[in-house]
Amino acid sequence: MRSFSTSVQRAEEFENPFGPNSLYKLTEEEQMLRDVVRRYAESQVKPLVQKMDENEKMDPSIIKGLFEQGLMAIETSPELGGAGSSFLSAIIVIEELAKVDPSVSVMCDVHNTLVNTVLRKYANEHLQKKYMPSLSTDKLGSFCLSEPNSGSDAFAMKTSVKKSDDGSHYIINGSKMWITNSGEAEFFIVFAQGDPSKGYKGISAFAVEKEMGVEIGKKESKLGIRASSTCTVNFDNVKVPAENLIGEEGRGYKIAIEILNEGRVGIGAQMVGLAQGAFDRALAYTHDREQFAKPIAKFQGLQFQMAQVATEIEAARLMVYNAARLKEEGRPFTKQAAMAKLYSSQAAERAAGRAIEWFGGIGFTREQGIEKYWRDSKIGAIYEGTSNIQLNTIFNLTAKEHGF
Ligand SMILES: Cc1cc2nc3c(=O)[nH]c(=O)nc-3n(C[C@H](O)[C@H](O)[C@H](O)COP(=O)(O)OP(=O)(O)OC[C@H]3O[C@@H](n4cnc5c(N)ncnc54)[C@H](O)[C@@H]3O)c2cc1C
Repeated sequence: MRSFSTSVQRAEEFENPFGPNSLYKLTEEEQMLRDVVRRYAESQVKPLVQKMDENEKMDPSIIKGLFEQGLMAIETSPELGGAGSSFLSAIIVIEELAKVDPSVSVMCDVHNTLVNTVLRKYANEHLQKKYMPSLSTDKLGSFCLSEPNSGSDAFAMKTSVKKSDDGSHYIINGSKMWITNSGEAEFFIVFAQGDPSKGYKGISAFAVEKEMGVEIGKKESKLGIRASSTCTVNFDNVKVPAENLIGEEGRGYKIAIEILNEGRVGIGAQMVGLAQGAFDRALAYTHDREQFAKPIAKFQGLQFQMAQVATEIEAARLMVYNAARLKEEGRPFTKQAAMAKLYSSQAAERAAGRAIEWFGGIGFTREQGIEKYWRDSKIGAIYEGTSNIQLNTIFNLTAKEHGF
């Protein structure tokens, strides 16, 4: 009796917001947000996807639209112009956008889960008030960590920072590479080395405005997510006010590590959305396309392949949602985030690759946009830590859990 009544009580206790529910249990707000983003992506983004991919350029109306829809400040507090929503809300938005265009999705992802979150978690109130309202309404942000010679080994960065003699500002010199959103961004979170003798403990993070002298260099021409701008970002004696240091000097490495743990859940969501987008399109096509006098979806050979892919997408989504829930509950989630990113990028590549085959010849052309999903899927195994780096994390944490 006692254990029965205790369990009932616990279920009620946990009913809101989480608890012993399925991972699909969303709050009313999360559900509404999903519907809004789905409608926006279908009506406003979809018609522009092919053109943006071909032109390798994000349509300015999309950036404006994301701000207007309130999708660029999902977790930011209402006092700073945001929606004050949950991390899972951000994950849902990233997933929904990726179903239609993974380029738009990553723009929203980087702005929310990296740029806004660094300020929200580590900047003082003054810096938050200085930048977060405009990051909620019209200014796009970038996250500048990687360099030509420091990718997986990010803390081997060469970009340097020096404090001025009078202590009023910092001077940043160096080049960052592969910076998402940098073609359109007006605000940059920049990591720089202030004291190489301290190794990674010499790295600090700064809030930098484009107007401070940030120069946008070469724009990469890419295999996938071509509408998302990826440029080199140069800092030539860029003067940054001392108050723009985020957190304390030497805390940059910790900020980068912690923020990328969250960011990886976002990339997982992007990959889940991408896989679902490709799958949904293929499912419809296979019911329409006839060969041997019946829809090709009636052939068991295709059905089994589709069932397999559907199962993998489901597994990937549950991993992503679970990592997001763990984070929201304040519990460790580093291993689960790494697993979610690793697996969802693999599932996305398989789903998009299969979808091309299910479309047959037309899937191999640019006409249907199906091959784009596959091209876009490849980035999932590279940015915010390659798949090998995720495997390192997963192994190290698993071994540690077992006392090794
Ligand atoms: C489109 C795009 C957008 C990006 N956006 C951003 C951004 O906004 N901000 C930002 O800071 N960076 C960004 N990046 C950079 C991205 O995070 C790096 O490309 C990534 O971390 C890998 O670094 P790398 O390219 O130098 O590859 P490398 O580190 O040189 O890796 C090459 C290969 O070696 C493997 N490898 C390296 N070290 C190990 C190891 N210890 N064990 C096993 N294998 C290993 C890797 O897994 C990979 O297969 C972006 C990259 C791309 C392509």
